[in-house]
Amino acid sequence: MPKPTIVAVDDEPLVARAIARDLRGRYGGDYTLVTATSGAEALDVIGRLVLRDRSLALVVTDQRMPRMTGIEMLEQVGELVPDAKLLLLTAYADTDVAIRAINEIGLDYYMLKPWDPPEQRLFPVIDDLLDDWRRDHRDDASEVRVVGHRWSDRTHEAKSFLTRNHVPYRWLDIERDDQATQLVELAGAGPDELPLVLVPDGRALRAPSAFEIADALGLRTRAEQPLYDLCIVGCGPAGLAAAVYGASEGLRTLVVERDAPGGQAGQSAAIENYLGFPKGLSGADLTHRAVAQATRFGAEMVLAREVVGLEQRGPVRAVLLAGGQAVEARAVVVATGVSYRRLGARGIDDLGARGVYYGATAAEAVQCRGEDVYVVGAANSAGQAALNFALYAKRVVMVVRAATLEATMSQYLVARIAKADNIEVRLRTEVVAARGNGHLEAITLVDRASGTQEEAPTSWLFVFIGAMPRTDWLGEEVARDDKGFVVTGQDLGGTHGTPGWSLDRAPYALETNVPGVFAAGDVRLDSMKRVASAVGEGAMSVYLVHRYLASI
Ligand SMILES: Cc1cc2nc3c(=O)[nH]c(=O)nc-3n(C[C@H](O)[C@H](O)[C@H](O)COP(=O)(O)OP(=O)(O)OC[C@H]3O[C@@H](n4cnc5c(N)ncnc54)[C@H](O)[C@@H]3O)c2cc1C
Repeated sequence: MPKPTIVAVDDEPLVARAIARDLRGRYGGDYTLVTATSGAEALDVIGRLVLRDRSLALVVTDQRMPRMTGIEMLEQVGELVPDAKLLLLTAYADTDVAIRAINEIGLDYYMLKPWDPPEQRLFPVIDDLLDDWRRDHRDDASEVRVVGHRWSDRTHEAKSFLTRNHVPYRWLDIERDDQATQLVELAGAGPDELPLVLVPDGRALRAPSAFEIADALGLRTRAEQPLYDLCIVGCGPAGLAAAVYGASEGLRTLVVERDAPGGQAGQSAAIENYLGFPKGLSGADLTHRAVAQATRFGAEMVLAREVVGLEQRGPVRAVLLAGGQAVEARAVVVATGVSYRRLGARGIDDLGARGVYYGATAAEAVQCRGEDVYVVGAANSAGQAALNFALYAKRVVMVVRAATLEATMSQYLVARIAKADNIEVRLRTEVVAARGNGHLEAITLVDRASGTQEEAPTSWLFVFIGAMPRTDWLGEEVARDDKGFVVTGQDLGGTHGTPGWSLDRAPYALETNVPGVFAAGDVRLDSMKRVASAVGEGAMSVYLVHRYLASI
């Protein structure tokens, strides 16, 4: 395979050579480096790459160039190669122009010149951009293959588990792909044994569970140590932040996740309100970075294991995992977030994951290319999903019970939805039924004002409605409200009012009524339900864990 290309552009030949020298030294092994001394020359080079079907990973350009500025050139690059990363080198005076370019042309990053020393100023930025690019372009080199039926719950679960764990895979549809039939025959798999998941060591897993896939791929599914200082349940933003702070501050830290890291945020196509990322970042990107950070500090992460119980064992707590293992820890942070409520429409549960989905990762939009997609919900999550589906689908219909979107969705999303030609918003409308033979074929919509019913043909229904915590596993001991949100700190009733509390001090801010058991993020009563607040609470819970551990 030819190496992907990086193009560096500066009208001053000396500067162009200096950029090329720095980049070649660090990236020359994996990328081909090409320099150009004008926007026109760079566009010519890039046009030829496109014709030869070669990959363009990154364009680094100076802003101030005669005839065509860096931004003008990058705008045209974006049209030729929409997924190339774009980096602008600017003078301080051009900062405003560069910030506008983030919105207007999708500029990925701007840097002030000069970039010396490159090890500190230039390479970290380019490493990040190229890592992102690599993550989106590794399908071809992927060694995991999933062979199955498009409309199968188990296939959907396997694909979704791999996607959410950032494991690249190749999808082979048994109904459309000759190689798929051949592989199934070679493996001698029967119709009930699909999907087949072919892993790099040559094994063919038959209709595997998430746990079996994780195990076969070498993801950690068991805790290594008998006792931890801190066990975090749930690996969304709150759990990941607690893991980063816990491990970096010297606590033996374990995170247990029933599915894949990232939680709800991992499903977001673009988180635009998280501090420090003016262009927004995808949930997958945020998760990938946070997992790398937590792992670097030494946090252990056990995946594909659901926590099903919590027990007091003398001075420590035992976190019970489905399948048998128990993990002991001196303190526990509950960061299990919330899950979408089921849609109470006739026939919907019979369809399972064959056309009806609760939430969606950004990657799922691709499979709806050219089709009609229905999205139920009116919160930011539904809005983001609709915009992401609109990139691929022929038409996206948002089904909204309320009379407006504005009451529940951020204005920037409402404005973008209004501008999108292929998104239709059906206000005061509900889905009351779904039908299909083997997979979803149509839904019935009702107009809440007039009561008129209408059947709409579609194979894709994505539901993003009212999220609820699933905290039954905490048993009777840990106080929750009637919806299951965990009650903490001041909401508990102080030293005397807290159920079962026998210590002289009152519960700490994020502590539950069981000393040493904390809650952070969406699972906590009255939490803000945002990525930033979940991250903040995860970090703060570790400060309180330290105080608790110092007191026992
Ligand atoms: C599509 C979408 C888009 C969003 N966009 C934005 C946005 O742009 N900006 C913003 O600020 N917020 C956004 N949000 C909200 C934000 O993602 C949440 O507020 C945030 O993820 C909450 O983090 P958390 O860690 O508390 O919980 P979660 O993200 O819900 O994570 C909880 C984790 O715990 C795991 N878990 C649950 N039970 C168990 C168990 N028993 N055993 C083991 N593991 C368990 C789950 O699998 C999950 O991974 C969005 C949400 C969605 C769904």
